[in-house]
Amino acid sequence: MTIQLKEELKALDQKHFLHPTTSIEQQQAQGPAAIFTEGKGIYLKDMEGNTYIDGMSSLWNVNVGHGREEIAEVAKEQMATLAFSSCFATFSNEPAIRLASKIASLAPGNLNTVFFTSGGSESNDTAIKLARHYWLLKGQPERQKIISRTLSYHGVAMGATNATGLQAFRDFTNSHAPDFHYVYNQSVRHLREMIEALGPETVAAFISEPVQGAGGVNIPQKDYFKEVRKICDEYGILFIADEVITGFGRTGKLFGMEHYGVVPDMMSFAKGVSSGYAQLGGVVISEKIHQDYCELSKGTLMHGYTYSGHALACQVGLKNIEILEREKLVENAAHMGEAMLEGFKALQEKYSFIGRVRTIGLLGAIELVKSRETGELFQSYLSPIFVQETMKRGLILRTVTYDQDTVVFSPPLILSKAELDEMLRILDETFEYVRKTIVEKEG
Ligand code: PMP
Repeated sequence: MTIQLKEELKALDQKHFLHPTTSIEQQQAQGPAAIFTEGKGIYLKDMEGNTYIDGMSSLWNVNVGHGREEIAEVAKEQMATLAFSSCFATFSNEPAIRLASKIASLAPGNLNTVFFTSGGSESNDTAIKLARHYWLLKGQPERQKIISRTLSYHGVAMGATNATGLQAFRDFTNSHAPDFHYVYNQSVRHLREMIEALGPETVAAFISEPVQGAGGVNIPQKDYFKEVRKICDEYGILFIADEVITGFGRTGKLFGMEHYGVVPDMMSFAKGVSSGYAQLGGVVISEKIHQDYCELSKGTLMHGYTYSGHALACQVGLKNIEILEREKLVENAAHMGEAMLEGFKALQEKYSFIGRVRTIGLLGAIELVKSRETGELFQSYLSPIFVQETMKRGLILRTVTYDQDTVVFSPPLILSKAELDEMLRILDETFEYVRKTIVEKEG
């Protein structure tokens, strides 16, 4: 790699590439933090030859790890045979049919019919629209309102943005669609009060991630969703689970809601269904909803993406799920998740500025605090500096700084004990460095 090439790419990036969820200021000042060229297993390599542990599975999605030849092979074959054909107007293709059936066989309870999208945002927009359409068909057109939770993240399409509880995403365009409402994270009482205040007959659906990802890996109390399910049933409200991060093994169960023994009416998924090898997502709906659609719907389902049921993406999804099952990656996530928690606890004992730690499967968080007793945070957030330092040491992580100072973890589900130990060693080294250079000086 020549310095010249790097400089050239940096300049082109700054001028021509508007990055997703990126500080424009930072991009213009520094250029790309890394230009990745290769991935293998849990590792990523950049154009300068640096190697990193991909501690976030990139964007919580590369669950089977990078560089899977067998996925590349089926993708090549499918692309050469039939990359794409329409699924509108009853047209179909075998990979889409097979993947829909496969997902129906894996999804909890009677979630049995799949609508395909290209990612999580489209999936949540779809779920919201399918819920509203459902009530139109059922003769209750006033059921339009969507309730979600503070600190939730559901994506950036218009419906998904408005369902997102993290306000910064809504403030970005200062457009706040009507009919979206937010309840406090763990409060079933607030949910009930909200429904009563809005009028139950005006509420279409409640949407929630089983475990919030972007909001800080917030793991609900054991009985939270059971209570939510009861309330939804009581008021006849549809319950949508956003399994975009938690689906396909991330939490040590195939789907996150399985931890809570609750079956939603609809479940959105993306990320882990294809481990990022192709753009793919979808919504699984219950048999009950599907039957009602079949009975009541007379016209066309006026919702569909060009790439709904994309043959190549679905074929990739099938191979990805085959790997997940063959290599028992869900079990590995459960098992390694426990080891990761042990590792976090050991670090917590060593460093007084680590607050709460938590994991559920291979989804984890470490909170940084100035004082454990009061929960006081450092004046300027510590986690962004922390993850810059882990990156220098070969570990890519991410932070959450909405009313908290948290480092989050989502390593590939293939993680081995030796790789976890390497990750923990880098964390230890970085905590030590941050303690000496920042914490002791501030404290
Ligand atoms: N829902 C959740 C829970 C997510 O974490 C994300 C993405 N991080 C989305 C939806 C949106 O998915 P996408 O970025 O694929 O549109």
